Amino acid sequence: MNATVLGPALLAVFGLAVGSFLNVCIHRLPRGESLAWPGSHCPSCGAAIRWYDNVPVLGYLLLGGRCRACRAPIGVRYPAVELATMAVFLAHGWALGPTPLAAVRIAFGCALVVLFAVDLEHQILPNAITLPGILVGLVASVWLPPGPRSALVGVLVGGGSLWLLFEIWKRFRGVEALGMGDVKMLAMVGAFLGWEQVIVTLVLSSVAGSLVGLGLIATGRGSLGSKLPYGTFIALAAMAASLAGNRLVAWYLGLL
Ligand SMILES: [Zn+2]
Repeated sequence: MNATVLGPALLAVFGLAVGSFLNVCIHRLPRGESLAWPGSHCPSCGAAIRWYDNVPVLGYLLLGGRCRACRAPIGVRYPAVELATMAVFLAHGWALGPTPLAAVRIAFGCALVVLFAVDLEHQILPNAITLPGILVGLVASVWLPPGPRSALVGVLVGGGSLWLLFEIWKRFRGVEALGMGDVKMLAMVGAFLGWEQVIVTLVLSSVAGSLVGLGLIATGRGSLGSKLPYGTFIALAAMAASLAGNRLVAWYLGLL
């Protein structure tokens, strides 16, 4: 196998394995359970999962999406998260090459996968991800893009603008529109991507969230008061900004 095939193949395998661990985080973090102990078990019957059933994606397919012991269906989330994590690894490897920045952005992408899934299911964004995320992003920025100044301004712009928006909304509507989890998550995006890309993320996630919200209202499945998992949209937008944000900014400035 030559290097052009070997690199992506290794990234894909490593991505699937990390995705398998992210599934553990997604299941256990919102429940306050330990990540290290006990080993993987079926959420329905508690049976320990054999190592060969735990092979990413393949295990799910070979079991027909059901627990070997009790036949309870296994959430499609498990293979989906594994494939999404593989995509995070491959996309950043392709966009940034074998660089320290790619490694940092892959770690960032993994945090986004967890926040995406946990927010979608539980409407919470765990501090255990967002707060260390802000710190890691700021520390990495000392040596790597976007640089410490842009990262620090990114934290303030990302967290600050959303916090201000919520405060205005609270005064105006008298309701808590969104949580502090979204504020901390966007601050984390700012720490990793810098102030320009946190604005890109804010715009993309607001547009996507509004479109989906309007779609739900139009189809009678939601109302203006419905709460959307905004962190889920931030995760998608931040991923796009991490991979193609510079091109998006250049394209937009070209329009002016
Ligand atoms: Zn079971």
